[in-house]
Amino acid sequence: MKQVVVNVLCPFCNVVEESIFHSLVQCNFVQEVWSSFLLHVNVGVVGGFRDWFDGLFQRFDKDKLGKVAAVCWAIWGAWNNLVWNQKGTNVDDLVTSAMLCLEQWINAQDRDINVSMELFLPRDGSEHWIRPQASIVKVNVDATIFTDHVCYNYYYLVTRNSDGGLVEAKSVCNLGQIQPEVAETIRMKEALNWIRGQRKMSFIVETIFLGLIQALRSSLQMSSYFGVVIQDCKTLLPSLHNVSLFFVKCSANRVVHYLARASNVISERSFGESTALSEFSDVLLNDISLHQNVHFVSVKRVD
Ligand SMILES: [Zn+2]
Repeated sequence: MKQVVVNVLCPFCNVVEESIFHSLVQCNFVQEVWSSFLLHVNVGVVGGFRDWFDGLFQRFDKDKLGKVAAVCWAIWGAWNNLVWNQKGTNVDDLVTSAMLCLEQWINAQDRDINVSMELFLPRDGSEHWIRPQASIVKVNVDATIFTDHVCYNYYYLVTRNSDGGLVEAKSVCNLGQIQPEVAETIRMKEALNWIRGQRKMSFIVETIFLGLIQALRSSLQMSSYFGVVIQDCKTLLPSLHNVSLFFVKCSANRVVHYLARASNVISERSFGESTALSEFSDVLLNDISLHQNVHFVSVKRVD
C-alpha cells in the first residue's frame, strides 16, 4: 500500500501547524490579503473558524460579509493551487482574484446588470488588430521583465493611426523587482500619462492583461502595490478626453509584442515610422494585411 506523506504545516508559511482558521485567516501571508481589503477582521479571536465567522456576522453588514466570503474563496483557491498543483501565489494576485470574484458575484446577484457590461465589454477580446476610426489613435501596451542578473522592466507603447501606420513606438526601461501585473499596470499608467500630453485626440488603449482592465473598471479599492497603481490610473482617467480601454488577445497585440521581444536590440528609445527598423515596419504591414484578409478575401471552394 502506497503511503501518502501529509504535511501538517500550513503550505503558505510552512511554520505553523495547519488548521482552516490559520490558513484562511491567521497566517501572516493571508493577513496581508485581509488588510488590503481594509477589512478589520479580528484575527486574534480565541476559538476556531466558526467562532470567528459567527463574530463577523454579528458586526458586519451584507457588503462586508460579501467581501469576507470572496477573500476566503480566493485564499482557498490559492491553497488548492499550491497544495495540488505546486503553484505559488503572491498577495497582489490573491487580492486581484478576490476582487474579481466579488465583483462577479455582486453582478450575478443583480439581475438588472449584465455581467459582461460591467467587467467584460462586447468590444473586449478582439483577436485581430483593428484600425481605429479616422480621428482616433490606437495605443497598444505591453511590458516585459528580465531577471538574468539585475531585474529590468521594459515598458512598451505603440501608437497607430487609422491607416495602421506608426505614430510612435516607445520603450522605457526601469530597474527593480516587480510582479508582472504591476509592470503591466505601470505601463498602462505611463500610456495614460503619454495621452495626457497629446492634444485633442481620441484614444483607444489595448492590453492583453484582462485583470488590469477589470480592476480599472471595478469600484473596489485595494491597498496592495497593484491597487495603488490602479488607483493612480483611475485618478488620471477623468482628466483625459475620449479614452477607451480594452482587453485584446495576444494576436491583436503582436506589434507591441514584437517590440517587447526585440528589446535587447532596440533598448530604451522612441521612434516614428520614418526611423523604424525595417523588420519592425514589416511586422506593422503584416499586421494590417492580416486584418484585411480577415475581412476582404473571399475563398472559392474547389470540389
Ligand atoms: Zn501559515
